Amino acid sequence: MKALVIGPALAQPKRSNPLRRNRAQPAPQPSLQLRELPTPEPHGLGWVLMRPALAGICRTDLNMLRGDPVPSVLSAYETRGELVPGHEIVGVVEKAGRTRWAREGHRVMVEPTLRCAHKGLPECGRCRAGETHLCENADRSGALCSGSSIGASERTGGGWSDGFLVHEDMLVPADGISDQRGVLAEPAASTLHAALRWTRGGDRAVVIGCGALSRLLVATLRRLHADLDITVLYDARSPYRPRLGRRARRPGYVSALHDADFAAIRAIGAARVWRGSSEQLLQQVADLVNARMLRPDGGALPVLDRGVDVVFDCRANPASTELGLRLLRAGGTLVLCGRSSRHDADWSLVWARELTVCGAALYGREPTGRRTFAVVREWLTDPAFPIDGIVTHRFPLDEYAAAIGTAAAGVGAGAVKVVFHGPMAALQTRVEGTVAERDSNAELPVLLQSTAARVRSRAR
Ligand SMILES: [Zn+2]
Ligand SMILES: [Zn+2]
Repeated sequence: MKALVIGPALAQPKRSNPLRRNRAQPAPQPSLQLRELPTPEPHGLGWVLMRPALAGICRTDLNMLRGDPVPSVLSAYETRGELVPGHEIVGVVEKAGRTRWAREGHRVMVEPTLRCAHKGLPECGRCRAGETHLCENADRSGALCSGSSIGASERTGGGWSDGFLVHEDMLVPADGISDQRGVLAEPAASTLHAALRWTRGGDRAVVIGCGALSRLLVATLRRLHADLDITVLYDARSPYRPRLGRRARRPGYVSALHDADFAAIRAIGAARVWRGSSEQLLQQVADLVNARMLRPDGGALPVLDRGVDVVFDCRANPASTELGLRLLRAGGTLVLCGRSSRHDADWSLVWARELTVCGAALYGREPTGRRTFAVVREWLTDPAFPIDGIVTHRFPLDEYAAAIGTAAAGVGAGAVKVVFHGPMAALQTRVEGTVAERDSNAELPVLLQSTAARVRSRAR
């Protein structure tokens, strides 16, 4: 079977001068290899072989390819061996070994986090508490498995392939959910978890970022809070914005794209979408909430005397975090939704204004007692959950360079969620040359109550 492999040497972070770490990083080069690997055999109670239909490319994957400019402390928890990435997956169970409920032909989505039980290790404190995404043995190998998740494990493989191993406890039925919605289950679970990290104490929320995570977060917040005022901010001048290439220099390219795109984000649930420099965005939010812009000594960015109740930072880069802290009212909450890294933040604001800063990584069991994925599965079956435009591009595995390049170019190039289509893709997009056609989502049928037989017959 075919699989995209990132090797240990490729996975090492590129070292650079730490004094220059705040400079813009070049777009990630696809340091992947397409290889022919033996199809893995499911061994052990509950393990199955799964064939992907669609597998998403996320910022974490791009980060893995690019490497951190300075080694991240998180590398201590990560697998160092050869990996097949891909943790946003919808597909079909191809081969079931000794399983309780998973059967060959089941169409499923994947909750990719590996926990102690899957590895054959004694349960850690966090797994016992149902917080399996915070497993204390993420770096440990057991008799059955290794790694922290599907797509970050030497033994299971990942979704960027024709097949990988997964435990049946990680499977979520995808009946009534189309491939293009099912592939968003994992990031949607992340955004639901992020939204639930905030205890509502006000009516104004800001989401920083315009990518898939931000859009899913807007849809999630709107579903949880019908009356919440949601503003989406896009820092156009951030040096961390991916380079857009030659197309972006065409007159009107970016602004025309953004007009249509921002309308799409408003349709999902945002009251407004603003694009500008940090200073411009602070001014616009100050006007919105009738705040004063206060100027600190030394020419730093202004702060507000009042502000919004919560900021969800989906970019989690130095500029977005700095903006987020300045936008909050005293006592407000900053939720870091993207993979943050080592960078400066003005902690005096956190101290003096009694801000709460919390991380939101992955998903598990929510305070309601339900698993995050169980809620997301219900939402995905509801056509009123407005996420159909989020998957914008599909590529076959062997077009991986174009796929990675498109995903890295991001919303500025019209790419929101880029996915690979695997052997079980029911709705393959025709690909010409190296550029996949943009999906026309309106024409895609929803596989209502799809059965494995229907999926298989379409795939052949
Ligand atoms: Zn991800
Ligand atoms: Zn554990």
